[in-house]
Amino acid sequence: MNIQFLDLKPQYTSIQGEIHASIQQVLASGSFVLGKPVLDFENRFSEAHSVKHCIGVSSGTDANHLSLSMIDIGPGDEVIIPVNTFIATAWGATLCGSRPVFVDCHPESYNIDPLKIERAITKKTKAIVAVHLYGQATDMQPLQEIARRHDVHLVEDAAQAHLAEYNGKKVGGIGISAAFSFYPGKNLGAYGEAGALTTNDNEIARKARMFRDQGQSEKYHHDSYGHNYRMEAIQGAVLGVKLKYLPQWTAQRRAVAGKYRQLLGDLEQVSLPKEMPYAKHVYHLFVIRARRRDDLKAFLEQKGIGTGLHYPIPLHLQKAFQHLGYKKGDFPVAEKAADEILSLPMYPELTDQQIEYVCDSIREFYPQ
Ligand SMILES: *Cc1c(COP(=O)(O)O)cnc(C)c1O
Repeated sequence: MNIQFLDLKPQYTSIQGEIHASIQQVLASGSFVLGKPVLDFENRFSEAHSVKHCIGVSSGTDANHLSLSMIDIGPGDEVIIPVNTFIATAWGATLCGSRPVFVDCHPESYNIDPLKIERAITKKTKAIVAVHLYGQATDMQPLQEIARRHDVHLVEDAAQAHLAEYNGKKVGGIGISAAFSFYPGKNLGAYGEAGALTTNDNEIARKARMFRDQGQSEKYHHDSYGHNYRMEAIQGAVLGVKLKYLPQWTAQRRAVAGKYRQLLGDLEQVSLPKEMPYAKHVYHLFVIRARRRDDLKAFLEQKGIGTGLHYPIPLHLQKAFQHLGYKKGDFPVAEKAADEILSLPMYPELTDQQIEYVCDSIREFYPQ
């Protein structure tokens, strides 16, 4: 049996007719950037996350840059970033000219460890970025308290966490603003690049709409510094179709996770992702820890099963951040996790048979 780590084709097949119609409508309209499809999507996406504003942009990376720009982060400032995340979280800070300051992760949630944040805060710290990694919300309450105590902003990177919940509340409106990604492989994926910023703050929303569109308040009136971060109409139309199905797809992801738990729960050589009591996990990724991880990965590959590593190198050990002066040993929890984690195939359309094959293969690897 062949099981890709991520296969986007079955989902496309299931909604093909609607997708084609929505793209044809954009082609016929002759309007390809922003416009009605994007506006409609923005309205429905913010409603789905119980947040006031959604600003569609060109990628999740751009959304991270936008979110920090809107709170005036700039050169000389420091931004707290979890060391265990995709690098684009940190690009948000560097694109503003500020310095990312890394903090180790919690061994069970893999999200930033709230107990380790305060020792990283200095007089230059302006913001904390809470990443809801793998689809599980960060423990936001301690972060909110720290942000309040030190008078710094708290923003979210929700690129992996569409419809995820923290204590019953959707992510995206808990921090002052939140960045989402609609990269094709994300829980809600465009057919190309796209992202969004969400916020309950009217002023941030107004400024963000200008910033994404060359700083324009009206055509050729450039009131502020800006960028071309506009969402394409075709992506807005595709996302509009897909958003309807997102609750169902999210439930299917949770069911896949449940099946993995059922079939792997008793295996002592692997530990399964923990659902924290405050979180409703949306399983962008199903990340286990495994003994002899590299050998297991190679064995599964041989069996036709694709797996992933999220992420093999913590940010402080990336060449791109060498100049920041971190070294091996600085973030032991994230470093240990990087050597043990393995992401199993995860997408809504995985069948029971496929999940059983993955789990049987893992059992076969470990001698009983
Ligand atoms: C995917 C991702 C991003 C970047 O999103 P793009 O749309 O690929 O630019 C940022 N942060 C995290 C945590 C991500 O997973």
